[in-house]
Amino acid sequence: MKTPLALLAFGLGLSLFAGCATAPSGAGCASGAVRLETGYDSAPDSACRRGDAGAAHFTLVIAPEAEPINPSPWYAFTLDGAPGRYRVELNYAAAAHRYAPWIRSGAGDWRRLGADHVAVADDGRRAVLELTLGGGPLQVAAQPLYDLDDYAALEQRWPGPWRTIGLSVEGRALRALVLEPMADGAGWALFLGRQHPPEIPGAWALDAFVDEALRLREAGLLASGLIVIPVLNPDGVDAGYWRLNENRVDLNRDWRGRSQPEVRAVFALLDALSLAPGDLELMVDFHATVAERLYLPQAEELPAQVSARLDAWLAAMEADGVFQTLEPMRTNPRLRFSAKAVFTDDWRTVAVTWEAGDETSPDQVRDHARRAAQQWALSGG
Ligand SMILES: [Zn+2]
Repeated sequence: MKTPLALLAFGLGLSLFAGCATAPSGAGCASGAVRLETGYDSAPDSACRRGDAGAAHFTLVIAPEAEPINPSPWYAFTLDGAPGRYRVELNYAAAAHRYAPWIRSGAGDWRRLGADHVAVADDGRRAVLELTLGGGPLQVAAQPLYDLDDYAALEQRWPGPWRTIGLSVEGRALRALVLEPMADGAGWALFLGRQHPPEIPGAWALDAFVDEALRLREAGLLASGLIVIPVLNPDGVDAGYWRLNENRVDLNRDWRGRSQPEVRAVFALLDALSLAPGDLELMVDFHATVAERLYLPQAEELPAQVSARLDAWLAAMEADGVFQTLEPMRTNPRLRFSAKAVFTDDWRTVAVTWEAGDETSPDQVRDHARRAAQQWALSGG
């Protein structure tokens, strides 16, 4: 919801930068007894300025890692210092305001900042957040942070074996959970996450889908082998990028060319496991966009038996009510470079781009993913 800037009766001027006492700086800026911090894990090193309207006013420049780029204007920062009310203006260099802010006090839970504390300019190029600082630091972000420490915690939560399948451009380990099929003749399922760093609802969906698949395997209801690569772009996640990897390449346009180490690592793993088309029953690539959506292969792109399996899964999900908001679309992508397109074309399997919704509640995102995993198992997994 947008509140006109003029309605924010906060008593501070909005003229930007005029008379600024400080030059733009990375890693945050201080104003009197309060400090705005940037440049930490998943929080980009956005240029920060003290506003000219007094000690309670900051401006952050929200800029992408490269242009042109898809408009996923990610932001994250922490405000810390003297209790009081503060105003932080997000100044967008290459996109309009998209993500409604979340806040977290200290180590508490993330919650949405009330819409009446967010004022967006008519052209979307500025958003002013009205923030109240209590006794401790206040984190603010475009989505609840899900950073590399959270992925390390996943490795504790999910039983191994985990393996390193390659290194990112910056040398971070690319990690995969690999669990063999539990019956002769059972196939494999591949799950990919975080090609695009800001798409955190997609991470919740992967988390819930895999949790449920593990439970179903333990219960003897799913025999498939599982390959889970929860974070394919760790460099972008750590840097707080909008879209790209450290080489400024969109990984989800690289599955045909395989120019990037992150994508090559996936194929090297499939080779190491001696998997060939026919062995892979399911590939789900988790993302997020404005609304919940399931991009699926078209019937004619798949062998009849595979298409029938997809139909059975879709029918089961529909009967379970999942499609009241999660819209299935059997699409033929214009560019056949994505993970979905390449696994459809080359592996002739059920290859899905799962788009969680930017604004969908975390509980609903997780519920849909859990039920989709159950219906996959029940429909023949
Ligand atoms: Zn995406």
